[in-house]
Amino acid sequence: MKKSADTGFFLSLVTLLSLVTLFGASAVYAASAVPALPVDLATVRAPLEDGLTATLSETHGLNLEATPHRGEGVGAFAVRLCGDAGLGSRIAEANGGSGTFQAGTRYTIPFDLLSPELQLKVVQALFPSDRGAADGWVHKVRGLGPLRRESLWNLAVWFTGDGENFRAIREYNELHDEDVARDFSVTIPSELLRPAFRAGLPVPEKPYLLQYGSDKDGEFAVYRLRPHEALYSSVVVRFTGRVFAKDVNDLALKIARRSGIPDVTDIPVGYRVKVPFEYLQPEYLPEGHPKRKEYEEGLRQSARFSNQVKARGLAGITIVLDAGHGGLDSGATMGGVWESLYVYDVAMRIKRLLETQTAARVLVTTRDGDAFKVQETDVLPFSRGHAVLTTPPYPIADPKVGVNLRWYLANSLYRKTLKADSDPDKVVFLSIHADSLHPSLRGLMAYVPAADMRDGTYSKSGGVYASRKEVQESPAVSFPRQKRVESEGLSRELAKQVVAAFQSTGLPVHPFNPVRDRIIRDNSVWVPAVLRYNSIPAKALLEICNLANDQDRALIQTRAYRQQVAQAVVQGLLAYYGQGAAPGQMVAETAK
Ligand SMILES: [Zn+2]
Repeated sequence: MKKSADTGFFLSLVTLLSLVTLFGASAVYAASAVPALPVDLATVRAPLEDGLTATLSETHGLNLEATPHRGEGVGAFAVRLCGDAGLGSRIAEANGGSGTFQAGTRYTIPFDLLSPELQLKVVQALFPSDRGAADGWVHKVRGLGPLRRESLWNLAVWFTGDGENFRAIREYNELHDEDVARDFSVTIPSELLRPAFRAGLPVPEKPYLLQYGSDKDGEFAVYRLRPHEALYSSVVVRFTGRVFAKDVNDLALKIARRSGIPDVTDIPVGYRVKVPFEYLQPEYLPEGHPKRKEYEEGLRQSARFSNQVKARGLAGITIVLDAGHGGLDSGATMGGVWESLYVYDVAMRIKRLLETQTAARVLVTTRDGDAFKVQETDVLPFSRGHAVLTTPPYPIADPKVGVNLRWYLANSLYRKTLKADSDPDKVVFLSIHADSLHPSLRGLMAYVPAADMRDGTYSKSGGVYASRKEVQESPAVSFPRQKRVESEGLSRELAKQVVAAFQSTGLPVHPFNPVRDRIIRDNSVWVPAVLRYNSIPAKALLEICNLANDQDRALIQTRAYRQQVAQAVVQGLLAYYGQGAAPGQMVAETAK
């Protein structure tokens, strides 16, 4: 924007008067010229340390003025101010192009080029009322006269590096036009900030901010949508526990209607989304709400139980490994990928790692064909040859029978292990699956058994069961409350260790609640049968990836990734038994 000389002069005079009043003693009006830049009559100046001066002007926006030290070359000057010697030429360009700087001469360094530390200092000097808050940087509008240097566009440029972010800032602050009244505090949401400003924000007490309200339709939580967030992933998946695509999409529509959102694809940043209490996971209800109290009490009780066994290299530990589905039950199928094939290969890789690199004893519940085999191909060949290794084996036909025979088998293996070694904490059950969820989700999610969902006695009847030795040994299961609470506690600890191992090796993990104690789907809630009726105290079902997510599905079709997953699972087991280990060299010294 160029103004004609006379108008510009008039505005500058007006600005000068208001600036002097506004900035008082902290800023000095300077009519003196900065070399190589045109004279700017309305420059606000605020001194920083070491002869540096922060400047704000109509024509040039935010800048820093600096004088090279004696003997300081272009590169060293650029390193001191920008943190990068390579930016010397950009400074020269901004100052008329001369490649050599003279000591004692003042140069202007554009705000964009400054190091994050100096960007922060420049802003703090010019806008001393600005501050970091939990949700973003709060800028108090100084109202720089009729020049309006603090349009939302300018704020977007200064604080985010991109003027186009003005729209998100406007929406987040629920403003209706691009200019902001003096003394108004504009919050620039943390997601948009330049690193300089984001680094200075206080860490919020919770990673999310919920408020609560009610109207004639009932009580609800209010979540203000943040930049780059979408209703389904950031609200529905996060706060309601829904993960299956149809559930997520249906509930997103319901919540949109409840919140008065006309178009779910274009929700303004900062929009107040209302989530009715009936859909909220208990931990997101207001403090003191009976359902939340009950949930927290359950956590407290189960957390009293933790694994006390330490086992170097997993010596003396029995791992019961279960690969989901198999045989005629292919599990989730997406884009030609059968869950049954890939989770079996991961299980085989876990088995091989445990047997070659640890002292653990590995028992498995299923086998494909006559021998346990790791496939050395990326895309796995189709197979329907899996059987549950009961006596006699069950070539998997009916998925439900396949699942039920697994827990009968696991319970039988557990009983035998206890006879040899009476410590129940030396046995772990892991079931390996891959799910098919809303495509926005990626990575590992672990299910553990909720104590309150495993009461009662359970048994299966019919020839296919009655003919199996493991069923005949002990046809019915039931668990006293104490055992269920203990199992939930140990299982949570185990699952958290596996999640941590995935995270530490950079493998994707669900962003919200990666450890869950029940499946929510299609208005029902349950614990997977292979956990629910399983007597082994420490147990988890690992959904190692989401086959409906394109990236996850591509990764699982590579050997390298399946091996990484297997390694992370083994690392989690080692950690559960008190042995932290760097990935890749987990247990060399204890290898058999
Ligand atoms: Zn599965």
